[in-house]
Amino acid sequence: MRRVNRRSEHKIVSVAPHIEWDDYWDKPSARINCPVCADSYQHHAETIVFDRPREDGPTTAISLPSGNAVSEKNPSSRRDAVRVNFYGECGHEWSLDIVQHKGETFLFATWTGTRDDSDVPL
Ligand SMILES: [Zn+2]
Repeated sequence: MRRVNRRSEHKIVSVAPHIEWDDYWDKPSARINCPVCADSYQHHAETIVFDRPREDGPTTAISLPSGNAVSEKNPSSRRDAVRVNFYGECGHEWSLDIVQHKGETFLFATWTGTRDDSDVPL
């Protein structure tokens, strides 16, 4: 590991979601880990709901918890989506998108940055 400050130089990168089955709960569950380093201590930040009342129609995007309308691009090219932004205790910032496309639903992860000068594996 080396100490870096990548926030200003980081590119937004699509990465594979890191999900693993879990037996902690008394019901079937899966843990969502950092898609960059697999650390399990991930905290929710802003959540954005993208609502498109009809296929290819205009999108209304609402950010929670503020409740403010936002104009971020809908991750679904034609339908609805939900984006949860995360910040990990590992220092990575990323988002998880739940996207509907042609009647199916997909998960996408995007590495959006690294906090301050955290020690993180490159
Ligand atoms: Zn991480």
